[in-house]
Amino acid sequence: MKYQRPKGTADILPDEAANWSYVESVAKELFAKYRFQEIRTPMFENFEVFSRSAGDTSDIVTKEMYDFHDKGDRHITLRPEGTAGVVRAFVENKLYGPEQIKPVKLYYMGPMFRYERPQSGRLREFHQIGVEAFGSESANLDVEVIAMGIHLLQKLGLKNLKLVINSLGDQETRAAYRKALIDYLEPHFDELSDDSKERLHRNPLRVLDSKDKNDQKLVANAPSILDYLTPESQQHFSTVKQLLEDLNIPYEVDASMVRGLDYYNHTIFEIMAHDKVLGEGDVTVCAGGRYNGLVEELGGPQTPGIGFGLGVERLLLLMQAQQVALPETNALDVYVVGIGQETKAETLKLVEAVRQAGYSADQDYLDRKPKAQFKTANRLNAKVVMTVGAEELAQQVVNLKVMATGVEQQVALEDVYQNFPKLLANFLKQ
Ligand code: ATP
Ligand code: MG
Repeated sequence: MKYQRPKGTADILPDEAANWSYVESVAKELFAKYRFQEIRTPMFENFEVFSRSAGDTSDIVTKEMYDFHDKGDRHITLRPEGTAGVVRAFVENKLYGPEQIKPVKLYYMGPMFRYERPQSGRLREFHQIGVEAFGSESANLDVEVIAMGIHLLQKLGLKNLKLVINSLGDQETRAAYRKALIDYLEPHFDELSDDSKERLHRNPLRVLDSKDKNDQKLVANAPSILDYLTPESQQHFSTVKQLLEDLNIPYEVDASMVRGLDYYNHTIFEIMAHDKVLGEGDVTVCAGGRYNGLVEELGGPQTPGIGFGLGVERLLLLMQAQQVALPETNALDVYVVGIGQETKAETLKLVEAVRQAGYSADQDYLDRKPKAQFKTANRLNAKVVMTVGAEELAQQVVNLKVMATGVEQQVALEDVYQNFPKLLANFLKQ
């Protein structure tokens, strides 16, 4: 029997995992500058958390959920996205309470699960970095969240980014637009795809998001939601656009963009890289929007919210395609070469002393000949090699060598154990 990873999952091997850590650390550092704090919520939630929030007609809920009944017959879902769980935690832990400084700004990173057809940049277990901010309707917050997403992608070295925004307005907007859309689509009912037929009355906005070519043709001439914005929604959207201009952030408005989750209202946005790197045209790496009704929907007090989710796999694919240079992380400070069995205890003491002094160190564990040990030091990209043989041991010294220059020096063992940082600094200065 040969074991294989489940379809749509990936093993992230050490070389690549280093890139993941780098992306995560850049994100954490940037989020802190915007005063976003980390939250960790469970990888699975009760089914209703998602059906309630994402919407019963969304693709995520109808087709993509990994849900099951556990041994206690609870209906459980592996989280397909991060927002619903964070909102559930926000409500359950009363993060809307007076002791919290508003807006409450949170971020998360971790795996998400969707039963999709796997392809490049689309997995069944994938990872998102996401942010959510609760408790303010200010357009400043919309723009700050968008700017933070763009900032992060720029910091990671991505080029050719494109911001696309739209407004879904408020409830009144949605009701009026819903009616207009149904009126427009009904005469074409027979031409619609089966999915869209089903959605026309349950959730006509979803038809705009259809991946069916013929649906897309029909939808191209549909009325625009922007013509149905209430004066307040119009005002909010204008302010967002103005503030983006004030920050010199270029954007496009796409009135047909609706996003895959039902909970959005007002501002929605996607940040794409317009590179033809993943087969198609524009690749969306980061997507989000406002969800002013979601906290209430999940049982909390009326609290506005806004956030985004960023796909880490897609981000890394884009970074690779755009040949972003990532920082070297695996250089080794010291490799200790031991010559002869009698040095075994000393090499162990040496690597441990070097590590305690704050440097990375490694040694041979396989009784390799000195020449092979030097070769390993080279392959590990060691900066300094420390050699100890029977003779050195007798004299209580070791030999240091800078691999890049070949400069060598003999130093007292005692100095290595007493004050390695100073010794190394002096040695490297020569
Ligand atoms: P798509 O239209 O590509 O299916 P979506 O609207 O379902 O995207 P969101 O729910 O907004 O995506 O998720 C935010 C981001 O997470 C996406 O922009 C993408 O980068 C990433 N993402 C979504 N689904 C997957 C997946 N199955 N595999 C890898 N990344 C994904
Ligand atoms: Mg999707």
